[in-house]
Amino acid sequence: MEKIYTIPVNEAYSSPCDCPICKLHSLSEQKYIEYYLGPSLMEPDTRILTNKTGFCQHHFGMLNKSDINRLGLGLILHTHLLNINDDLSKDLATAVPDKAGLFKGKNSDYKSKLISIADHIDSRVDMCPVCDKINDSMKHYVEVIFWMFKHDDSFKAKFADTKSYCLPHLALLLREASKLSQNDAADFLSVLTSNFYSSTSELIKDVEWFTLKFDYRNTDKPWGNSKNSIQRAMRFLSGDCKEFDEQGKK
Ligand SMILES: [Zn+2]
Ligand SMILES: [Zn+2]
Repeated sequence: MEKIYTIPVNEAYSSPCDCPICKLHSLSEQKYIEYYLGPSLMEPDTRILTNKTGFCQHHFGMLNKSDINRLGLGLILHTHLLNINDDLSKDLATAVPDKAGLFKGKNSDYKSKLISIADHIDSRVDMCPVCDKINDSMKHYVEVIFWMFKHDDSFKAKFADTKSYCLPHLALLLREASKLSQNDAADFLSVLTSNFYSSTSELIKDVEWFTLKFDYRNTDKPWGNSKNSIQRAMRFLSGDCKEFDEQGKK
């Protein structure tokens, strides 16, 4: 197994977090944001790619918040805008239908043309090399998780100690587990599901206690683990994101 994947997987499973796969996701996201703002942006191949793709809204936001290379960001945006302008100007030049008049009858060709231009714009907005690279890395990480679960006893112990996964990453693990032999699937899923039951019932209790703390009779009782249960519940339900940061709201 390649160390570039086993080391981060081991580190994610050794660090305290709600979902180690979210941790791997955010590490690779940060790495690729830095990659696109680093020396790669002067490489012709990278620029040919980003001229075409730009980035998705979420990753444009991360690029904007990064202070690494404002000039580089400007250069990427400038040549991407030129590419978009060139591409869409040609399409939009054909978008305006002739007016129907005395000598020209009605022609509804423009309707399908407008839909196809809109589809083309949507497909360009959806392009993002950071998303593509993260998806690729996540595939490798998940393969490594399954490989180490079978072949590395110390990792298997860490995996068994892992309290929970967010729902999107639980689905990711189940999808990958469907490729296992029946016996391997039995080993893997018995650990995964027992962790799910215990962590979910704990979370439900914590969120309930959060709501009960608003009852004046409970004001002086301790919070226990409930204080950040709102954020933990959101992370569990939809995966980690910056907006669920406990620092934002107590
Ligand atoms: Zn997750
Ligand atoms: Zn993206």
